[in-house]
Amino acid sequence: MTRKTVAVFPGDDASPEVMHPTVELLEKLHLPIDFVYPMVGNEALAAHGSRFPETSKAQVDEADATFFGSTSGQSTEALFYLRWGKQTYANVRPCQFRPGYRSPMANPENIDFVVVRENLEDLYLGLEGDLTDLAGLNLYSKHAKTSLKDMGAGRYAIKVITEVGSERVIRFAFELARERGGMRKVTLTSKYNMLAKADGYFREIGFEVAKDYPDIAFETFIVDDFLCRMITNPCALDVVVMPNLYGDIMSDGAAGLIGGLGLAPSGCYGADYAYFESAHGTAPDIQGQNIINPTATVLSASMMLSYLGFHDAANTIEAGISSLYAAGQCIPVDQGGIAKTNEFFQALDGALGLT
Ligand code: ATP
Repeated sequence: MTRKTVAVFPGDDASPEVMHPTVELLEKLHLPIDFVYPMVGNEALAAHGSRFPETSKAQVDEADATFFGSTSGQSTEALFYLRWGKQTYANVRPCQFRPGYRSPMANPENIDFVVVRENLEDLYLGLEGDLTDLAGLNLYSKHAKTSLKDMGAGRYAIKVITEVGSERVIRFAFELARERGGMRKVTLTSKYNMLAKADGYFREIGFEVAKDYPDIAFETFIVDDFLCRMITNPCALDVVVMPNLYGDIMSDGAAGLIGGLGLAPSGCYGADYAYFESAHGTAPDIQGQNIINPTATVLSASMMLSYLGFHDAANTIEAGISSLYAAGQCIPVDQGGIAKTNEFFQALDGALGLT
């Protein structure tokens, strides 16, 4: 197998506490992967005059994938480059229950769906400002029966739903539904009643794309109805696709169904690049306590191994995680156990025969 290169950003606050041991775990698997650490943040600013210098960008470009630890600022520029620079338009967030997870649901056993969140547009383009910026447009609200300029001081944020951006992420969801070979169903959600122009467009494109996949069932729900269904009947879901903001919110909710953010992996895919990071943030409130749950990060690494073609290793890691939780002997604190972060990694080494 050809050697691969992975760019690693350990991240901020509690992130390095799970990122470094996860890379060590991957190294112990003796896969043909070289890990490089592009310089970011204040260190890069001091050395190169930029928080994400050209040399670091080149390392990302030359790598086959990036393994990204959550950031509270130091690597934000790198993250923006990984998203918009590398056009990673599909954020894939699996929500799969494993026995031993502390799910709040009565019957979580068959929860196994994937949220595909559009990753580049919607309200995340940074097009925000003061209402006075829009005064010249003479915008009139038919709902509020008032001109925007008569609403007094305020701010705005622009929501953008494009044809290209919607089509490619919805197609990605259909392809994933085929590949998973599960229920073979795509569920699309957005606020297409109230936001008929923008979110309605996302849904219209969904129906168009669905015509190319007669073997995959397709359904749509308004996002508030969808949330209720996701909570009351999550086992009816297979692949779910939605615009950026809803995906951000719903995927954290989905993580809650199986036991919380500590369990939720994520991968962001473009046409020719992908990066992988846990769905959770930097968990600043538990930094330095050796209690951050590594599961989300380790499972993100496993998604990365699959992307790089190391399917056996990915399956081995997933089986190792499942066996630890099923045995119930080394359960992290957020799942109701007493295992410290380093103890979980030691137990995982043991489960994988790496000690
Ligand atoms: P950020 O601004 O980086 O997103 P945040 O605190 O707003 O940080 P998260 O980092 O996602 O958001 O954390 C939300 C809550 O979930 C925190 O209480 C955090 O400790 C907890 N949490 C997140 N990830 C984990 C984890 N892997 N293990 C245990 N608890 C976690």
